[in-house]
Amino acid sequence: MATPTPAPRNLPPQLCPPQLKGRCAKCMAECHQYGFGGNPLCQEHQAEVAALQKPKRPVG
Ligand SMILES: [Zn+2]
Repeated sequence: MATPTPAPRNLPPQLCPPQLKGRCAKCMAECHQYGFGGNPLCQEHQAEVAALQKPKRPVG
């Protein structure tokens, strides 16, 4: 039985098929931009954006 491959949301460029590669909208680094799990931002900038979107207010 084949183990289902976990679907990565975004691949590092070295693991990404060339046809799915693109350039990060922020830093123009190669990233997995197209296809399933692709993102217009590189992993670094995705993390940055995700961090900005989290509420940073201290609890209490
Ligand atoms: Zn970037």
